[in-house]
Amino acid sequence: MSDKEFDVIFIGGGPGGYAGAIRAAQLGLKTMLIDDRKGDDGKPAPGGTCLNVGCIPSKALLDSSKHFHHIQHDYTAHGITADGVSIDIDKMLERKRKVVKQLTGGLVQLFKANKIEFVNGRGKLFSDRQVEVTPNDSEKYTATAKHVVLAAGSVPFSIPNVEVDNEYILDNVGALEIPEVPQRFGVIGAGVIGLEMGSVWSRLGAEVVLFEALDDFLPAIDRDMAKVAQREFRKQKLDIRMGCKVSGAEVSDGKVKLSYNDGQDDHEEVFDRLLVAVGRKAATDNLASDDSGVDRTDRGQIKVDAHCRTSAENVWAIGDLVRGPMLAHKASEEGIAVAESIAGQAGHINLETVPWVIYTDPEIAWVGKTEAQLEDEDIEYRSGAFPFAATGRGLAMGNAVGQVKILADAETDELLGCQIVGAYASEFIGEVVVAMEFNGSAEDLARIVHAHPTLSEAVHEAALSVDKRAIHKAN
Ligand code: FAD
Ligand code: NAD
Repeated sequence: MSDKEFDVIFIGGGPGGYAGAIRAAQLGLKTMLIDDRKGDDGKPAPGGTCLNVGCIPSKALLDSSKHFHHIQHDYTAHGITADGVSIDIDKMLERKRKVVKQLTGGLVQLFKANKIEFVNGRGKLFSDRQVEVTPNDSEKYTATAKHVVLAAGSVPFSIPNVEVDNEYILDNVGALEIPEVPQRFGVIGAGVIGLEMGSVWSRLGAEVVLFEALDDFLPAIDRDMAKVAQREFRKQKLDIRMGCKVSGAEVSDGKVKLSYNDGQDDHEEVFDRLLVAVGRKAATDNLASDDSGVDRTDRGQIKVDAHCRTSAENVWAIGDLVRGPMLAHKASEEGIAVAESIAGQAGHINLETVPWVIYTDPEIAWVGKTEAQLEDEDIEYRSGAFPFAATGRGLAMGNAVGQVKILADAETDELLGCQIVGAYASEFIGEVVVAMEFNGSAEDLARIVHAHPTLSEAVHEAALSVDKRAIHKAN
């Protein structure tokens, strides 16, 4: 094999591509990874959207803003008061950048340790798995591989008449770099990014208004759970306006004027900054030539089978480029599964048990199906719910908002879904994922000993409640 021939080339170094490349190298495959992202310092910044402008920086800001909010509003009942609390936004942003840099720099070291040929630049697939490699700092050349994995991720959707400049009208990149707290912060789209970034700037003191096109808030979860979450967000003064159709936004004199219709009348609102968070689309631009043999779906995603194989021989695609949830852990698991399949192992990913988390306060986490989906599919089910207000730990913490809901098959009791609205939901949704992955039942969860006092006892009680035998509530 020449130094331009590989067993596998990954194009895109986000959670899908980098995890897949590391696994491929572990399995003894000669591996190249191409990723185009550079940091502010001009150094390679692999890790994709997630590490650079997604999961990690947003969580860093969510944590900073949560501390700021808690210390001012949530500790008085504990007997703690703090005067003169202030926040240094520069420092907060600097901390976020440091976290990102630590992680992206760590990846470069991991690539070296695993002997991955890492190129900071663009990759483009041509026929017969020839890849045109254009390094950021040298001449282009062609490399070939027995297998190519497309892992280019996603980019934000735009909407007509709302032009992102990332100074006043922002996408996720600009929303993570606002240099001072806006007095009024507008958000188009009350989905995952809108709620997370809206929470950050609201906790820091901005007046936040979210404009959502749909009439239903968070359609991915059940209505009763969405109501619990929406009630809490309203208490936090997130002004969420449903059924709004945005017609345009204009910047003048450092302000953004947004025009919209609320289903009845036309309105205008003025904001200091406006975030556009209306979903994301597969990043397929300039990724594969027309003769590469890679088909796309009507939605512009790369078409793949259950094992992430595309229509071109030995070309695979993973993560945000393909069907399924646009989540980092889903992308990573697909990358690993594809690497294992290429090495002749049984790569596996179960899209039915991918957990979702929205990192608001309360957190919202779910896995599996909702009641509405089960009804659509004519599946008979039983449900059990349990409020955190009835847990000793929630009350002791002074954070007993929300509830756990479990859905199980009416006949077999197999777990079909779980939704949690509450503190640390992100941490203990995993218990239900494990149970579902092993085809567990509500009875299995009900029979497992849960430590006391913990918030996870609400999962235990919700499982008991499926059979109407919860201990700490009337059934
Ligand atoms: P990406 O992470 O998008 O990585 C693809 C990489 O490939 C990019 O760096 C891109 O620049 C590069 N690339 C593209 N084309 C080429 C090419 N031709 N040549 C070379 N390089 C190329 N998910 C979660 O699970 N949890 C969260 O908390 C979470 N928070 C998020 C917050 C925000 C604000 C956003 C925007 C997203 C968030 N996500 C979260 C989603 C998550 O970031 C994505 O699902 C995940 O990054 C997808 O991974 P990927 O590997 O498919 O693609
Ligand atoms: P989203 O799909 O979560 O939410 C977009 C919202 O915008 C939807 O509610 C949609 O109805 C609404 N919308 C669409 N067009 C509109 C319009 N013209 N006017 C008003 N509202 C409109 O998408 P997102 O928030 O942009 O996030 C993109 C994806 O990134 C997420 O779906 C998720 O996969 C991923 N993400 C995950 C996390 C996490 O895991 N915690 C965090 C952020 C992003």
